[in-house]
Amino acid sequence: MDIQFKRHRRLRSSANMRALLRETHLRAEDFIYPLFVVEGMNQRNEVASMPGVYHLSLDLLNAEIEEIVSLGIKSIILFGVPDAEQKDECGTQAFHDHGIVQRATRQVKEAFPELLVVADTCLCEYTDHGHCGIVENGEVLNDQSLELLARTAVSQAKAGADIIAPSNMMDGFVAAIRKGLDEAGFEHIPIMSYAVKYSSAFYGPFRDAAQSTPQFGDRKTYQMDPANRDEALREAQSDIEEGADFLIVKPALSYLDIIRDVKNNFNLPIVAYNVSGEYSMIKAAALNGWIDEKATVMEMLIGMKRAGTDLIITYFAKDVARWLKEEK
Ligand SMILES: [Zn+2]
Repeated sequence: MDIQFKRHRRLRSSANMRALLRETHLRAEDFIYPLFVVEGMNQRNEVASMPGVYHLSLDLLNAEIEEIVSLGIKSIILFGVPDAEQKDECGTQAFHDHGIVQRATRQVKEAFPELLVVADTCLCEYTDHGHCGIVENGEVLNDQSLELLARTAVSQAKAGADIIAPSNMMDGFVAAIRKGLDEAGFEHIPIMSYAVKYSSAFYGPFRDAAQSTPQFGDRKTYQMDPANRDEALREAQSDIEEGADFLIVKPALSYLDIIRDVKNNFNLPIVAYNVSGEYSMIKAAALNGWIDEKATVMEMLIGMKRAGTDLIITYFAKDVARWLKEEK
């Protein structure tokens, strides 16, 4: 044979050789585990479109967290699901001192002071119209919503949240929340901004879970067009200027190019949100026996890290942490 070629297979010849050359790794510390908290007692209700994900009442929350901590997961993100009759026009329960997220945060920080609690800061789970801001004449008002978002963030910080994660996509939300936190004496609390958030069909199952489907219209006037790539850099840039400490890209799986762009252009920790639809697709296929769940999940998440994310918010966090433990 006199043709010339490279022998790439030399570096794949054994499991140890492959381990030696592996460029990207998953660790339990990479994951932020989302939890949905609800009112009532003894509630552990599986979300129909998200097998393995539950609405938990506060009396059952500590047992769940015990398990999360034992798996080596260092952070959770809390979503509140108030009762329907608690919802109103301006989402009062979002910034109430005794709102469901505030009570859950206090309880978790008391029992597990080391666990990092990320508070999702938005209004849509608490408004009767299901939009992320104040609505007037069928329009979501930007500047008028900022004050309520800042109040929500401050009430969450007061309850003990370690990180504030605003997800509403109003313009100026990071600046407004930073100012609110600083004025209330929480200048040490970081903001994990949903900087690049697309208007995505992959959120469908979450809206079942959070009962936050908009009652009219859609979120296309504030969330981004999935067709846009350059715009993601503008969104990230302005959040950094406004004081963001982390940048979230959401969703993740169809947006790996965006994760890489943000990684290459900015020097802040990046968080990929592996959203509900990405979870449910794999779960459904696995339950049908069509794919190998573990292998698929690991490949998907390593793909996100390879794309450039530092952390991943994922409903698979517990499963992956368990699998990683088993491998050790
Ligand atoms: Zn929202």
